[in-house]
Amino acid sequence: MTEVSTQSPGVAILGSTGSIGCNSLRVIESLSTTRMRVVALAAGTNVERLADQIAAHLPEVVSVDTEVAAHDLRAMLFARDIDLPRIVIGEQGLIEVATHPQADCVISATVGAVGFVPTLKALEMGKRVALANKETLVMAGELMTEAARKSGAELLPVDSEHNALHQCLRGERREEVRRIILTASGGPFRTKNKAEMSHATVSEAMQHPTWNMGAKITIDSATLMNKGLEVIEAHWLFGFGPEEIDIVVHPESVVHSMIEMIDGSVIAQMGVTDMRHAIQYALTYPERHECQLPPLDLTALSGLHFEAPDHDRFPCIRLAYRALREGGTLPAAMNAANEEAVAAFLNERICLTEIPQVIEAVMNQHSKQPARDIQTILAADHQARHEAVKIISHKKAQKAQNDLVDLKQ
Ligand code: MG
Repeated sequence: MTEVSTQSPGVAILGSTGSIGCNSLRVIESLSTTRMRVVALAAGTNVERLADQIAAHLPEVVSVDTEVAAHDLRAMLFARDIDLPRIVIGEQGLIEVATHPQADCVISATVGAVGFVPTLKALEMGKRVALANKETLVMAGELMTEAARKSGAELLPVDSEHNALHQCLRGERREEVRRIILTASGGPFRTKNKAEMSHATVSEAMQHPTWNMGAKITIDSATLMNKGLEVIEAHWLFGFGPEEIDIVVHPESVVHSMIEMIDGSVIAQMGVTDMRHAIQYALTYPERHECQLPPLDLTALSGLHFEAPDHDRFPCIRLAYRALREGGTLPAAMNAANEEAVAAFLNERICLTEIPQVIEAVMNQHSKQPARDIQTILAADHQARHEAVKIISHKKAQKAQNDLVDLKQ
């Protein structure tokens, strides 16, 4: 590996073995002029990939999910004759990585609610956070943005739409922007009817038309909950109200998002569908550097299409707007219910169209509190998961009953 100066900016990555984590390391490796130093990595249980990352980047601290994973990692590094970094475990491990004293920037790329507390701690310490984990903002947008404001931390979105909006909004006056427009690919069921969607298999739902991503976000893209979560994320990042945030389906995913000015002018950010663009922008902002990706070939495009989202087939959008309008702990409850419902779908316990049903039932039962502290938000998250699991079990029992009746007939 190339010698990296100890003066180089330090980077910590939460979720280093996932899709965003791996792409982040590729970006860091490619940034020759402002070479960054990887000081800490947190992964789940993929110790093989983590061992490769340790060999290439020599971080001081690494975190894994479990004691077993830590044991396996130690054995693997020993066998490969790689110097052992300090190995930490679980949520405390994630926090140690996120708050590493030499990390100037933390890439928050864990999946789901698990990234919330570590990311919040990084913001409280004034670190730049390159945020790929939208769930943390959905759960606790007020707390996170308030922490960033107090410490002076920069919160830079890695999510492609929000990264695009950040670029479009640069230098614009807030009062001159009428609305922001998030683009959505529409997912694999854009042209399917309700019946087809209810019979969708996991592998069909995993066929995202334009982006290659992890399982949870791919299912969220199939139900369009991903876009719902992104509406809430955009609200917290840019300060627009629910009535000023719109969604337009754009199957080619070339326009990553747009802003509309008060004079009707629309500014769009376009690019190839590769997350490395957004990651590099978040790492090097306010500078721009050459990127190794091929540029967008406009003449190779067969056309750009835009259509309104179908709220009837994709009720998750309506649920997310409702959560944003009603506020408090409701978005955290919605997010938790969604995580449980998506996991149940991936385990073939419920069908795709039952995901929004589970979420809505949890939201209807939720007793909303102001989302002003970690404990209240985590309690709402836990309670919503508990409710979601109960509803999922009930649906599964019902399905088994129906199957039995069908069999007898
Ligand atoms: Mg996105």
